[in-house]
Amino acid sequence: MTQTSNVRVPEILTEHQDWPLSAAQSLWENVRQVHALEHATIWVLSEQTQIHLGGASTDRGFFVHGQVDSGDLLRAAHQALRRLNQGEERLAVHPRCGTNLSVGMVLTAALSLGVSMFLPRRPLPQLLGAAAAAYTSAQVAGELGAMAQRHLTTSMPRNLEIVGVKTLTDWLGRHSHFVEVSYISR
Ligand SMILES: [Zn+2]
Repeated sequence: MTQTSNVRVPEILTEHQDWPLSAAQSLWENVRQVHALEHATIWVLSEQTQIHLGGASTDRGFFVHGQVDSGDLLRAAHQALRRLNQGEERLAVHPRCGTNLSVGMVLTAALSLGVSMFLPRRPLPQLLGAAAAAYTSAQVAGELGAMAQRHLTTSMPRNLEIVGVKTLTDWLGRHSHFVEVSYISR
């Protein structure tokens, strides 16, 4: 049995003992931190301009779609990170986040299904039931979405650092920006 001692353990396995779970967890944790920074940056920019901006986060950084100068964006991202680090937690939650949209969609679907099962199968009660379901979910989705953002899809930055901004142009000539981040190792 001396041969087995020569077997080399792949480096990725030695780095993450219980890989792939811990690797997936740290990836998700990184995306949550970037997502908080994305929201905070969009908040800071919206304090300066009326333009509606969209965003999307990855573990390497976040995209910002819309008319914004890359220098302004970089300054806003630095200010956002500083303010998050100083404890302005509300900046991490944004009302126009995709999380709210998905929470709203799931809620509307669940309520509509529940309502249509319990109401008489005639068209009018069904229609009124569907309207009530849509109304109810519209009322509570924002609050639930904010809660989901706070606890699930964002996390206060702990070891984030901003690397820079890249401007990208798609095949239709539309510009978007990518704010690149890195992680300070501890
Ligand atoms: Zn979001």
